[in-house]
Amino acid sequence: LSAGELAAVRADFPLLGRTLRAGRPLVYLDSAATSQKPEVVIDAELEFYTQRNAAVHRGAHQLAEEATEAYEQARDEVATLVGAATGEIVWTSGATAGLNLLAYAMSNASAGRGGQAARALALGPGDEVVVTEAEHHANLVPWQELCARTGATLRWIGVGDDGRLQLEQLADVVGARTKVVAVSHVSNVTGAVTDVPAVVAVARSVGALVVLDACQSVPHLPVDLPSLGVDAAAFSGHKMLGPTGVGALWARRELLEAMPPVTTGGSMVEVVTMESATYAPPPQKFEAGTQMVAQAVGMGAAARYLRELGMPAVAEHEAALTRALLDVVSRVPGVRVIGPTDPADRLAVVSFVVDGVHAHDVGQVLDDQGVAVRVGHHCAQPLHRRFGVAATARASASVYTTLADVEAFGEALATVRPFFGLGGAA
Ligand code: PMP
Repeated sequence: LSAGELAAVRADFPLLGRTLRAGRPLVYLDSAATSQKPEVVIDAELEFYTQRNAAVHRGAHQLAEEATEAYEQARDEVATLVGAATGEIVWTSGATAGLNLLAYAMSNASAGRGGQAARALALGPGDEVVVTEAEHHANLVPWQELCARTGATLRWIGVGDDGRLQLEQLADVVGARTKVVAVSHVSNVTGAVTDVPAVVAVARSVGALVVLDACQSVPHLPVDLPSLGVDAAAFSGHKMLGPTGVGALWARRELLEAMPPVTTGGSMVEVVTMESATYAPPPQKFEAGTQMVAQAVGMGAAARYLRELGMPAVAEHEAALTRALLDVVSRVPGVRVIGPTDPADRLAVVSFVVDGVHAHDVGQVLDDQGVAVRVGHHCAQPLHRRFGVAATARASASVYTTLADVEAFGEALATVRPFFGLGGAA
């Protein structure tokens, strides 16, 4: 993005213009937790509520028709952003819900639900699910639970000192009994980008499904899910400039057809008798109850906004931010980055430890200077344990982040150790 384009992007985000306590400008470096929202997203929700609000897929009236059209157009926008067919996008409340939906569908299949088509998705004792040590808890705990319910075994590959997945371990960990390989596309801690085709090649060779946690990739990279070769992927609206409370699960049509439903009730059925029910085809089969229509419309607007900016341009802008973040952090004495130090291997989410200072204190000192970062384990406790730390501070960027934001962060970071009487002022 040129300077002019970036200024125009920033002007689209009302919140970026606010000031903090003591009149400080906001330096928002917590986009990996949740992104800010452009006016078009806020307006899309507002327009829905002020002009179109009605239950979808039901009413015979004009509003219901318009609401349904807005809801389905939004699905189409999200599908287009990730190269998917519209009917392969299931609305969920977020990535966590999408990953749980997959895991619960598989346990329903394991309990004999879903008939013949679902049998290939069933797990039992001796079967295996493979994850990685780098996963967000959302792509770990649902698989632990699936294993606990079915008697299957959870296995995993590790992370090297460089913060990259040790993909060479897949050859030992993935075997004839592997049913699922679940990995994140981009780590929300290290920013490391997974070599997805390499994972797919190993999983395919044993007929395992590949599930991708695409939460941290879809907002930042051009992502074409079908051509990555994975079978399913989950991502969240709120991390890609959209609203909270909405996300998407993408899966190949055959997989969605084979998956038994998880949440059952209204809107997902065809014929219901007192004894039983038949189900609507996907995606409706997975969308029981009144859906989050306004949020879906907002997520559609976010997908369109990103598509119009152009994901290659977004990725290029953010690559410059990655280099700048790594550069400023490496210039501050006593600061150690967790994860790849080569900007080519990662995105603009940089977790670090400051020697002698707890991450929460780092966050406090930065906040006093208007710099918002996240501190803690970022829902990835095993990964933090792997690096021998309980918590890190994390600076993360999005398309609206500027090099000036990164510089302000660097200046504030240089004050942290001196603030605590430790050496190392830059
Ligand atoms: N996976 C990754 C990699 C994430 O960064 C997050 C959000 N921190 C999630 C899953 C869960 O997303 P959500 O909380 O929106 O369901």
